[in-house]
Amino acid sequence: MTDIPPDHPRYFSLMTRHRIVSGVEKGITSQEGLIAQGRGEAFDYLIGEETLPSAHAAEYAASAMILLAKRRIISVNGNAAALVPAELVQLSEITGAPLEVNLFYRTEERVLKIIKHLQAHGAGQVLGAQPDAAIPGLTSKRSNVCHSGIYLAYVVFVPMEDGDRCEALVGMGKQVIAVDLNPLSRTAQQATISIVDNVVRAVPNMVEMVRELKSRDEGYLQGVVMDFDNKKGLADAMDSII
Ligand code: ATP
Ligand code: MG
Repeated sequence: MTDIPPDHPRYFSLMTRHRIVSGVEKGITSQEGLIAQGRGEAFDYLIGEETLPSAHAAEYAASAMILLAKRRIISVNGNAAALVPAELVQLSEITGAPLEVNLFYRTEERVLKIIKHLQAHGAGQVLGAQPDAAIPGLTSKRSNVCHSGIYLAYVVFVPMEDGDRCEALVGMGKQVIAVDLNPLSRTAQQATISIVDNVVRAVPNMVEMVRELKSRDEGYLQGVVMDFDNKKGLADAMDSII
Protein backbone atom coordinates (compact mmCIF):
# COMPACT_ATOMS: atom_id res chain seq x y z
CA MET A 1 0.00 0.00 0.00
CA THR A 2 2.17 2.82 1.28
CA ASP A 3 5.17 3.32 3.49
CA ILE A 4 4.25 6.62 5.14
CA PRO A 5 5.39 6.34 8.79
CA PRO A 6 2.47 7.00 11.20
CA ASP A 7 4.57 9.46 13.22
CA HIS A 8 5.11 11.69 10.19
CA PRO A 9 3.73 15.18 11.03
CA ARG A 10 1.67 15.17 7.84
CA TYR A 11 0.63 11.54 8.11
CA PHE A 12 -3.11 12.19 7.90
CA SER A 13 -2.79 14.55 4.96
CA LEU A 14 -0.44 12.18 3.12
CA MET A 15 -2.78 9.24 3.68
CA THR A 16 -5.63 11.30 2.27
CA ARG A 17 -3.53 12.02 -0.83
CA HIS A 18 -2.77 8.35 -1.07
CA ARG A 19 -6.47 7.51 -1.06
CA ILE A 20 -7.17 9.95 -3.90
CA VAL A 21 -4.23 8.66 -5.96
CA SER A 22 -5.36 5.10 -5.43
CA GLY A 23 -8.88 6.20 -6.47
CA VAL A 24 -7.40 7.37 -9.76
CA GLU A 25 -5.46 4.11 -10.17
CA LYS A 26 -8.65 2.11 -9.59
CA GLY A 27 -10.53 4.22 -12.12
CA ILE A 28 -13.05 5.66 -9.65
CA THR A 29 -11.57 9.17 -9.41
CA SER A 30 -10.82 11.33 -12.46
CA GLN A 31 -7.38 12.84 -12.97
CA GLU A 32 -9.02 16.23 -12.62
CA GLY A 33 -10.07 15.03 -9.16
CA LEU A 34 -6.41 15.26 -8.13
CA ILE A 35 -6.39 18.94 -8.97
CA ALA A 36 -9.64 19.50 -7.08
CA GLN A 37 -8.08 17.80 -4.04
CA GLY A 38 -5.05 20.09 -4.32
CA ARG A 39 -7.23 23.16 -4.34
CA GLY A 40 -9.07 21.84 -1.32
CA GLU A 41 -5.81 21.12 0.54
CA ALA A 42 -4.67 24.71 0.12
CA PHE A 43 -7.80 25.94 1.90
CA ASP A 44 -7.55 23.20 4.50
CA TYR A 45 -4.03 24.39 5.33
CA LEU A 46 -5.37 27.92 5.79
CA ILE A 47 -8.16 26.87 8.16
CA GLY A 48 -5.69 24.80 10.22
CA GLU A 49 -6.70 21.31 9.04
CA GLU A 50 -9.39 21.04 11.69
CA THR A 51 -13.14 21.41 11.91
CA LEU A 52 -13.91 25.06 12.70
CA PRO A 53 -16.67 25.75 15.25
CA SER A 54 -18.74 27.26 12.40
CA ALA A 55 -18.25 24.09 10.32
CA HIS A 56 -19.27 22.00 13.31
CA ALA A 57 -22.48 24.06 13.55
CA ALA A 58 -23.07 23.63 9.80
CA GLU A 59 -22.59 19.85 10.08
CA TYR A 60 -25.05 19.72 12.99
CA ALA A 61 -27.67 21.74 11.09
CA ALA A 62 -27.10 19.64 7.97
CA SER A 63 -27.60 16.43 9.95
CA ALA A 64 -30.89 17.77 11.31
CA MET A 65 -31.98 18.92 7.84
CA ILE A 66 -31.33 15.48 6.35
CA LEU A 67 -33.30 13.76 9.12
CA LEU A 68 -36.24 16.16 8.67
CA ALA A 69 -36.57 15.70 4.91
CA LYS A 70 -39.10 13.23 3.55
CA ARG A 71 -37.06 12.71 0.39
CA ARG A 72 -33.32 13.02 0.72
CA ILE A 73 -30.33 11.81 -1.23
CA ILE A 74 -26.56 11.65 -0.94
CA SER A 75 -24.82 12.54 -4.22
CA VAL A 76 -21.44 10.81 -4.61
CA ASN A 77 -18.61 11.77 -6.96
CA GLY A 78 -15.25 10.12 -7.61
CA ASN A 79 -13.35 12.09 -4.95
CA ALA A 80 -15.88 11.46 -2.18
CA ALA A 81 -16.03 7.77 -3.11
CA ALA A 82 -12.24 7.49 -2.85
CA LEU A 83 -11.96 9.43 0.41
CA VAL A 84 -14.90 8.33 2.57
CA PRO A 85 -16.69 5.32 1.05
CA ALA A 86 -17.46 3.50 4.32
CA GLU A 87 -18.56 6.71 6.04
CA LEU A 88 -20.92 7.59 3.18
CA VAL A 89 -22.45 4.14 3.38
CA GLN A 90 -22.89 4.57 7.16
CA LEU A 91 -24.49 7.98 6.71
CA SER A 92 -26.85 6.55 4.12
CA GLU A 93 -27.82 3.69 6.41
CA ILE A 94 -28.53 5.75 9.51
CA THR A 95 -30.38 8.56 7.70
CA GLY A 96 -32.21 6.40 5.17
CA ALA A 97 -30.92 8.69 2.40
CA PRO A 98 -29.99 6.64 -0.67
CA LEU A 99 -26.63 7.05 -2.43
CA GLU A 100 -26.59 8.28 -6.05
CA VAL A 101 -23.44 8.44 -8.15
CA ASN A 102 -23.27 11.67 -10.14
CA LEU A 103 -20.17 12.63 -12.10
CA PHE A 104 -18.92 15.61 -14.05
CA TYR A 105 -16.49 13.42 -16.01
CA ARG A 106 -19.09 10.72 -16.42
CA THR A 107 -18.39 7.43 -18.12
CA GLU A 108 -20.54 4.33 -17.66
CA GLU A 109 -17.44 2.41 -16.63
CA ARG A 110 -16.54 4.86 -13.88
CA VAL A 111 -20.11 4.99 -12.55
CA LEU A 112 -20.18 1.19 -12.29
CA LYS A 113 -16.76 1.10 -10.64
CA ILE A 114 -17.88 3.61 -8.01
CA ILE A 115 -21.08 1.65 -7.35
CA LYS A 116 -19.04 -1.55 -6.89
CA HIS A 117 -16.58 0.29 -4.65
CA LEU A 118 -19.42 1.57 -2.42
CA GLN A 119 -20.94 -1.91 -2.33
CA ALA A 120 -17.57 -3.34 -1.29
CA HIS A 121 -17.87 -0.95 1.66
CA GLY A 122 -21.29 -2.27 2.59
CA ALA A 123 -23.75 -0.33 0.41
CA GLY A 124 -26.90 -2.04 -0.83
CA GLN A 125 -28.59 -0.47 -3.84
CA VAL A 126 -26.79 2.56 -5.26
CA LEU A 127 -28.52 4.83 -7.79
CA GLY A 128 -26.90 6.53 -10.76
CA ALA A 129 -26.20 3.80 -13.31
CA GLN A 130 -29.40 4.49 -15.25
CA PRO A 131 -30.22 8.19 -15.09
CA ASP A 132 -33.74 8.88 -16.35
CA ALA A 133 -34.11 12.61 -15.65
CA ALA A 134 -32.22 15.82 -16.24
CA ILE A 135 -31.56 18.90 -14.13
CA PRO A 136 -32.94 21.81 -16.15
CA GLY A 137 -30.47 24.41 -17.40
CA LEU A 138 -27.31 22.31 -17.05
CA THR A 139 -25.26 21.18 -20.01
CA SER A 140 -22.61 19.13 -18.18
CA LYS A 141 -22.95 15.40 -17.62
CA ARG A 142 -23.82 16.16 -14.02
CA SER A 143 -27.31 17.04 -15.28
CA ASN A 144 -28.03 13.29 -15.71
CA VAL A 145 -29.83 12.15 -12.57
CA CYS A 146 -32.25 9.50 -11.35
CA HIS A 147 -35.88 10.59 -11.15
CA SER A 148 -36.46 8.72 -7.90
CA GLY A 149 -33.20 10.05 -6.46
CA ILE A 150 -31.71 13.51 -6.94
CA TYR A 151 -34.51 14.70 -9.22
CA LEU A 152 -37.30 14.31 -6.68
CA ALA A 153 -35.30 14.89 -3.48
CA TYR A 154 -36.10 17.86 -1.26
CA VAL A 155 -32.70 17.75 0.39
CA VAL A 156 -29.52 16.89 -1.54
CA PHE A 157 -26.31 16.26 0.38
CA VAL A 158 -23.36 16.74 -1.94
CA PRO A 159 -20.00 16.14 -0.27
CA MET A 160 -18.33 17.70 -3.31
CA GLU A 161 -20.18 19.76 -5.84
CA ASP A 162 -19.58 22.15 -8.68
CA GLY A 163 -20.95 25.64 -8.51
CA ASP A 164 -23.24 25.58 -11.50
CA ARG A 165 -24.98 22.36 -10.53
CA CYS A 166 -25.39 23.61 -6.98
CA GLU A 167 -27.07 26.70 -8.38
CA ALA A 168 -29.30 24.60 -10.66
CA LEU A 169 -30.38 22.34 -7.78
CA VAL A 170 -31.21 25.37 -5.63
CA GLY A 171 -33.08 26.76 -8.65
CA MET A 172 -35.23 23.60 -8.64
CA GLY A 173 -36.30 24.52 -5.10
CA LYS A 174 -34.12 21.98 -3.35
CA GLN A 175 -32.20 22.45 -0.15
CA VAL A 176 -28.56 21.75 -0.96
CA ILE A 177 -25.99 20.83 1.66
CA ALA A 178 -22.46 21.12 0.27
CA VAL A 179 -19.06 20.34 1.75
CA ASP A 180 -16.44 22.64 0.25
CA LEU A 181 -13.19 23.81 1.81
CA ASN A 182 -13.27 27.01 -0.22
CA PRO A 183 -15.76 29.45 1.33
CA LEU A 184 -15.43 31.64 -1.78
CA SER A 185 -16.35 28.94 -4.30
CA ARG A 186 -19.61 29.29 -6.15
CA THR A 187 -20.73 26.06 -4.51
CA ALA A 188 -20.21 27.41 -0.98
CA GLN A 189 -21.86 30.69 -1.96
CA GLN A 190 -24.92 28.99 -3.49
CA ALA A 191 -25.63 26.15 -1.07
CA THR A 192 -28.39 26.25 1.53
CA ILE A 193 -25.91 24.91 4.08
CA SER A 194 -22.21 25.27 3.25
CA ILE A 195 -19.89 23.09 5.30
CA VAL A 196 -16.40 24.58 5.04
CA ASP A 197 -14.53 21.47 6.10
CA ASN A 198 -12.67 18.53 4.59
CA VAL A 199 -15.01 15.68 3.61
CA VAL A 200 -12.70 13.33 5.52
CA ARG A 201 -13.72 15.14 8.74
CA ALA A 202 -17.22 16.33 7.81
CA VAL A 203 -18.78 12.99 6.89
CA PRO A 204 -17.63 11.05 10.00
CA ASN A 205 -18.70 14.01 12.17
CA MET A 206 -22.15 13.90 10.60
CA VAL A 207 -22.45 10.16 11.20
CA GLU A 208 -21.94 10.83 14.93
CA MET A 209 -24.30 13.81 14.91
CA VAL A 210 -27.09 11.92 13.15
CA ARG A 211 -26.75 9.14 15.73
CA GLU A 212 -27.37 11.71 18.47
CA LEU A 213 -30.09 13.66 16.65
CA LYS A 214 -32.11 10.57 15.80
CA SER A 215 -33.33 10.42 19.40
CA ARG A 216 -34.61 14.03 19.26
CA ASP A 217 -38.10 15.10 18.27
CA GLU A 218 -39.01 17.02 15.12
CA GLY A 219 -39.36 20.33 16.96
CA TYR A 220 -35.80 20.10 18.21
CA LEU A 221 -34.48 19.31 14.72
CA GLN A 222 -36.43 22.23 13.25
CA GLY A 223 -34.94 24.51 15.90
CA VAL A 224 -31.41 23.40 14.99
CA VAL A 225 -32.02 24.18 11.31
CA MET A 226 -33.73 27.53 12.04
CA ASP A 227 -30.96 28.69 14.38
CA PHE A 228 -28.26 28.07 11.79
CA ASP A 229 -27.06 31.11 9.83
CA ASN A 230 -25.20 30.12 6.66
CA LYS A 231 -23.93 33.63 5.84
CA LYS A 232 -22.43 33.88 9.31
CA GLY A 233 -20.81 30.44 8.89
CA LEU A 234 -19.14 31.53 5.65
CA ALA A 235 -18.00 34.80 7.22
CA ASP A 236 -16.53 32.89 10.19
CA ALA A 237 -14.60 30.63 7.81
CA MET A 238 -13.22 33.68 5.99
CA ASP A 239 -12.21 35.25 9.31
CA SER A 240 -10.36 32.09 10.31
CA ILE A 241 -8.49 32.05 7.01
CA ILE A 242 -7.53 35.71 7.31
P1 ATP B 1 -16.93 26.35 -8.01
O1 ATP B 1 -17.34 25.80 -9.34
O2 ATP B 1 -17.91 26.03 -6.95
O3 ATP B 1 -16.56 27.81 -7.99
P2 ATP B 1 -14.23 25.33 -8.15
O4 ATP B 1 -14.32 25.41 -9.62
O5 ATP B 1 -13.27 26.14 -7.38
O6 ATP B 1 -15.66 25.55 -7.51
P3 ATP B 1 -13.39 22.64 -8.54
O7 ATP B 1 -11.94 22.87 -8.76
O8 ATP B 1 -14.31 22.28 -9.62
O9 ATP B 1 -14.03 23.86 -7.73
O10 ATP B 1 -13.55 21.53 -7.36
C1 ATP B 1 -12.81 21.55 -6.22
C2 ATP B 1 -13.60 22.14 -5.07
O11 ATP B 1 -13.77 21.15 -4.09
C3 ATP B 1 -12.79 23.27 -4.46
O12 ATP B 1 -13.61 24.33 -4.06
C4 ATP B 1 -12.14 22.60 -3.23
O13 ATP B 1 -11.98 23.50 -2.16
C5 ATP B 1 -13.16 21.53 -2.87
N1 ATP B 1 -12.51 20.35 -2.29
C6 ATP B 1 -11.54 19.57 -2.83
N2 ATP B 1 -11.19 18.55 -2.04
C7 ATP B 1 -11.98 18.65 -0.94
C8 ATP B 1 -12.10 17.88 0.24
N3 ATP B 1 -11.36 16.80 0.46
N4 ATP B 1 -13.02 18.27 1.14
C9 ATP B 1 -13.78 19.37 0.92
N5 ATP B 1 -13.72 20.14 -0.18
C10 ATP B 1 -12.82 19.80 -1.10
MG1 MG C 1 -15.98 24.12 -10.50
